[in-house]
Amino acid sequence: MVHSSPRVLVIRNGQFLAGAGPDAGLVTRDLVAEDGVIVAVGAGVGEGYTVSDSVQIVDATDRLVLPGFVNAHYHSHDVLAKGTMEEEPLEWWALLALPPSFPPRSTEEVRIRTILGALECLRGGITTVQDMVTLFPFEPEQLEAVIEAYESIGIRAVVGPQFADKTGIGTRPFWEEVIPEKYHSRVKSFAEPDPDFDLLDYLEQKYFAEGPTNGRITWALAPTAPESCTDDLLKRTVGLSEKYDLPIFTHIYESKSMALEARIHYREHGGSLINWLKTLGMLGPRVNLAHSVWLLEDELETLAETNTQVVFNLLSNLKLKSGIPPIEAVQRLGISYSLGCDNPSCSDSQNMFQAMKLTATINAITHPDPLPEQAYQVFEAATRGGARAIGQSDSLGELAVGFRADCYLINLHDPSWLPLNSAVRQLVYSESGRGVETVIVDGDVVIQDGRSTKVDEAALRAQLAEVMPNFLADFASARERVSELRPYLLEAHQRVWAQDVGLNRLLSGR
Ligand SMILES: [Zn+2]
Repeated sequence: MVHSSPRVLVIRNGQFLAGAGPDAGLVTRDLVAEDGVIVAVGAGVGEGYTVSDSVQIVDATDRLVLPGFVNAHYHSHDVLAKGTMEEEPLEWWALLALPPSFPPRSTEEVRIRTILGALECLRGGITTVQDMVTLFPFEPEQLEAVIEAYESIGIRAVVGPQFADKTGIGTRPFWEEVIPEKYHSRVKSFAEPDPDFDLLDYLEQKYFAEGPTNGRITWALAPTAPESCTDDLLKRTVGLSEKYDLPIFTHIYESKSMALEARIHYREHGGSLINWLKTLGMLGPRVNLAHSVWLLEDELETLAETNTQVVFNLLSNLKLKSGIPPIEAVQRLGISYSLGCDNPSCSDSQNMFQAMKLTATINAITHPDPLPEQAYQVFEAATRGGARAIGQSDSLGELAVGFRADCYLINLHDPSWLPLNSAVRQLVYSESGRGVETVIVDGDVVIQDGRSTKVDEAALRAQLAEVMPNFLADFASARERVSELRPYLLEAHQRVWAQDVGLNRLLSGR
């Protein structure tokens, strides 16, 4: 009888957090994983192994070993637009960044951008990414390319192709009246519907019904924003979420415009998207509301009562002048929250260290009195909170027996860690990502000495150089089209800011 031996990963002599809380010290431990699952964590448990075809040993001396981050809100479709923009209000940034504003992309470009985005995530200790990807027009081959890209680089990905069934202009306050009619066809939404293709049905038949693959790729349902969807589409979404136990990710109240839209078009629900979603059954622990910036206190209470989760994205909220989310209230009410880095074109980085630090410190602007210690809370959000968001909190977010071996190693010789006074505080306030050397997903070393072990990075750079001229030409055309609309967009924006929606999340806002 032939026994295939398990794939073993041994991390030896690493520094592990000794407990929870901001003052947790460090202890020297080994970690052993078999076929991606942690089977032992403790002093000396990694002794007695020798390197072989099936046994990999990582020396973690003077290295901090931490559970991998979950980047709980991200879009791979605009990786190539990193660094193209200064601050732009959300509504017109969207016209520059989102796939419906561009001609169809090549499958090669989709593959390259997906790998590149995943590489940036991995290099910063992100072992799981939730990708609300828009493929427009939807081509089955391009979704396959996304999956293959994630598989090839070894990251864990929760893929949620975005969908909607309402078109753009009607969901933005004042646009229809302010923008001349000849320009209306230029105004696209986050994910324009294709009337001839039922994406949800396709995803169900081809992917959801197959059941879990035990691989690193899982699925999420991603209605782009509730107000871009009909009641029927959202009810179908809830039904599929229950049937296949899938998390739902959507954008809510990212900008003041979206709050005003709710006040105008959802009057029968008290002007509240949250009340409306409640009537549809679309609140609950499987549901993640990305941004959640312009939430009223009673809406926050409803989220707490229904165990609905939120995802904060400070990097993009600030760049897009969306405002500051109610972090203090979410923490006070005990709402489960995670962190995301959002679109590359407006956050410009997939860096959870930046996301954690901003989330932990932005309260200085909103709350003059000191709040409860933030560092451990945001570290928890970036790890366990993310695992809860994707419905995998029993297997991700902790380095304990029975959990998947998803982790990264930080070099404690880096100046950010000298002297070492508090591992958690220095992780949140001092580390930039520079110290991350080794990244492990599912017991598999995917980044070693800061380089991918899976993809040829030099070849990737060469492939990137080949697709960029075409991308930049299309981006320049999109920018030209949008710049003609700018006076109208500005007028609509200023009209939005002149309205009272019952709260203010941008403190100097007009
Ligand atoms: Zn988003």
